[in-house]
Amino acid sequence: MPYYSGEEKPPIDRPQRVMVIMAHPDDADFTVAGTVARWAQAGAACIYVLCTDGNKGSDDPAMTPERLAIIRREEQRRALRQLGGQDVWFLGFEDGVLEPTLALRRALTEAICRFRPDTVVCPDPTMRWAGDEYINHPDHRAAGEAALAAIFPSARNRHIFPELFANGLAPHAVATVYLSAALQPDTYIDITATMDRKLAALAEHRSQFRLEEVEPFVRQWGEQNGAVIGVRYAEAFKVIRPR
Ligand SMILES: [Zn+2]
Repeated sequence: MPYYSGEEKPPIDRPQRVMVIMAHPDDADFTVAGTVARWAQAGAACIYVLCTDGNKGSDDPAMTPERLAIIRREEQRRALRQLGGQDVWFLGFEDGVLEPTLALRRALTEAICRFRPDTVVCPDPTMRWAGDEYINHPDHRAAGEAALAAIFPSARNRHIFPELFANGLAPHAVATVYLSAALQPDTYIDITATMDRKLAALAEHRSQFRLEEVEPFVRQWGEQNGAVIGVRYAEAFKVIRPR
């Protein structure tokens, strides 16, 4: 049974501090932006933590990874502002070859213990393909894998990365985890009222696509998820509340 999170039928999670961990600029805006906009409108502080700058995301021989990193960071900051979010933190790992290394886990552990989110959104690391036409980018799986390992156990335990906690930083327990693009979603958030914000955020990623190219399938995904709970548009998640 899907857990219903629409306007008309509470309960809905009301997070206060939300951290969205993704591999690349634009990942969050495709998958979770409507939900982030809802949470931000309800007063939550929302930040994105991006493992890479997405600086390999161009086939243009005249574009360099250095220039593209600057462009994509700015696009992502503008996109999050469209949703009412606060800030984007870039961890600077290399695009296209992201692995769930201990270095990535440590960086995410530090981010979690600094921002102290009650809710973290990250990709489902078990999603390898979907349907007949989609292979999931390995960077997305790596980001999800490292994020879950940072949430549990690293961020809760000062002995795993003791160097992080030597200067006053305290361990932190994340209460709720939302897996995006999940293989087995169990929670649907009604984004009918924030689909316009999601499209405005996507429109900011001008180095990657024009909004007209993606809007039809973004609306179609939203409708498919919305049909599960009887609303026009929804985003789907697998929710975990680690004890
Ligand atoms: Zn991506």
